[in-house]
Amino acid sequence: MGTLRDLQYALQEKIEELRQRDALIDELELELDQKDELIQRLQNELDKYRSVIRPATAQQVQAQQQSLGLQPDQHRSKRQAISAEPTACDISQLSHVTLPFYPKSPESKELIKDAILDNDFMKNLELSQIQEIVDCMYPVDYGKDACIIREGDVGSLVFVMEEGKVEVTKEGMKLCTMGPGRVFGELAILYNCTRTATVRTLVQVKLWAIDRQCFQTIMMRTGLIKHAEYMDFLKRCPSFVLRLSSVTHYEDGDYIIRQGARGDTFFIISKGQVGPPLIHRSADSSGLSTLISNLHREDVRTANVVAAGLVTCLVIDRDSFKHLIGGLDDVSNKGYEDAELKAKYEAENAFFSSLKLTDFNIIDTLGVGGFGRVELVQLKNEEAKTFAMKILKKRHIVDTRQQEHIRSEKHIMTDAHCDFIVRLYRTFKDSKYLYMLMEACLGGELWTLLRDRGSFEDSTTRFYTGCVVEAFAYLHAKGIIYRDLKPENLILDSRGYAKLVDFGFAKKIGCCKKTWTFCGTPEYVAPEIILNKGHDVSADYWSLGILMYELLTGSPPFSGPDPMKTYNVILRGIDMIEFPKKITKNAANLIKKLCRVDVNVLLETDLFVFRWFEGFNWEGLKKGTLTPPINPNVSSPTDTSNFDSFPEDSDEPPPDDNSGWDYDF
Ligand code: ATP
Ligand code: MG
Repeated sequence: MGTLRDLQYALQEKIEELRQRDALIDELELELDQKDELIQRLQNELDKYRSVIRPATAQQVQAQQQSLGLQPDQHRSKRQAISAEPTACDISQLSHVTLPFYPKSPESKELIKDAILDNDFMKNLELSQIQEIVDCMYPVDYGKDACIIREGDVGSLVFVMEEGKVEVTKEGMKLCTMGPGRVFGELAILYNCTRTATVRTLVQVKLWAIDRQCFQTIMMRTGLIKHAEYMDFLKRCPSFVLRLSSVTHYEDGDYIIRQGARGDTFFIISKGQVGPPLIHRSADSSGLSTLISNLHREDVRTANVVAAGLVTCLVIDRDSFKHLIGGLDDVSNKGYEDAELKAKYEAENAFFSSLKLTDFNIIDTLGVGGFGRVELVQLKNEEAKTFAMKILKKRHIVDTRQQEHIRSEKHIMTDAHCDFIVRLYRTFKDSKYLYMLMEACLGGELWTLLRDRGSFEDSTTRFYTGCVVEAFAYLHAKGIIYRDLKPENLILDSRGYAKLVDFGFAKKIGCCKKTWTFCGTPEYVAPEIILNKGHDVSADYWSLGILMYELLTGSPPFSGPDPMKTYNVILRGIDMIEFPKKITKNAANLIKKLCRVDVNVLLETDLFVFRWFEGFNWEGLKKGTLTPPINPNVSSPTDTSNFDSFPEDSDEPPPDDNSGWDYDF
């Protein structure tokens, strides 16, 4: 029997043992931290090298990993943008097109509908659209051992299987088998793309098919009808009111307007009823409703308007209204109103018009994009004057049918005089290439900074987001949407201010108009683009929410191993995303507001009102007096140290016959 002393001794021993273990754990944890750090450092190095390899190679690596059943590496590589013109016919003709109709049994109809509702992408369509798709699908039969879809082919059909069994393979490796009631090939109805897998029949199969043109006609038509209803409403209330308004809620008996008071705000009832009968309008069934009051003259209120029950109003003040209504047409000329600026632009123009391509030396490569390279160039006779020259291969542009986009890029950038948008001074062309001479921003890409730092602080993100808000406000006031926001397309000038570059997808759509081109970078596209509903500036604000999230965390909220999977998570919505703790509540609120699925009413002023921007020095940002969060250290006009190094381009294109380029570039 142990005495008390023995027990105490044993206890001491145990305590000592524990202490030693704790010390060992501490030591091992330290070692682990150091190893983590080393891994992170090596990962960064690896990312750096990978990001300068051609994107195709990176994609091949990823495809290989996937086909081997491995998780693709979580490394950061630059993302390729996608664009496809709608293949449906002329928009104005859309409502007159008769869609094909293929009769089918009630069981077949039910099976197709169920298959669609079971598909992550197609289940997001409206029931009326699904109905139309069901009616338009035509029968296709295949015998045993036939190839329905071949990997790498360009596809335009989507299928629903009614009977049979197929096998799906990728690069010769079996992925799965599928039976009746499944949809496949759905990426092809969004845009022209190559098939990512092969589908072969194992037995005889019976399928239903629809092509992209038919699908897009259905989608666009629904969008157009909705838009027409919306426009009809807007005709009754001056344009842009909705974008500038804020929402106010009233309880029963609250005074919305008091008789005799001076009125410089305007109200649109969006929900509920107001009285007394002098102004007795209520929200109609379409949700948004009628505008009270005349927006054009300052009026003394001639009546009380009292909420009858719960009422929600959109409220706009006269100044914002005038600013926009009056501003829309003027803004494009606004810069020129200032005689000094006008003289400056003219002098600039004269200087650049006199230059020839042979007046420049190439110093180094700043970036490699989808269409060519961007080189840092200097004037031979004035070496301190450097520029960024974007060099695009004509052949590639013609092959990818991007002529219209490139032309629009030139015009929009040339006209843009905004401190938050890269200046395009002039363009050149020769038999092989098009050249765009731009201001050089030597602070490097925001993408590179984000890659090297992992993520940004709240205040750093606020600064860059602020820069984008300024650029967007400028573009949107001119009726231009940008459509390709991502850290890759934001570059820092030598002060550390961010500027938008790459206007390949920007488009002038004008006020209250929509457009249907599928464009953007998968992680950043808005649901209305994916669903072909027609999109407008709201798609830019969606991408602003995605950018904020990516800057704060290092990765975008919606992503998947392939674009279709990414689109499906986007369609599930931002509420399905768990925000990491490092995103503050205020930032999360703003992101959620920007990434609302239903953006009929976008409250632009909210950006300024919203808590996350509270106290932000907008004036300082605009004047350039606000100190940027990161100083990029640019030592001279030829310092390219903030950019990665790129291998030389060995792919010299053949001279073009110039057809298609004789116009306007
Ligand atoms: P994408 O594949 O995104 O369409 P792109 O071929 O259209 O690429 P840009 O995005 O315009 O080309 O430019 C490619 C890269 O070159 C940019 O991401 C940036 O790093 C660099 N770059 C472009 N313009 C400038 C500039 N004015 N100053 C400094 N660097 C620039
Ligand atoms: Mg780009």
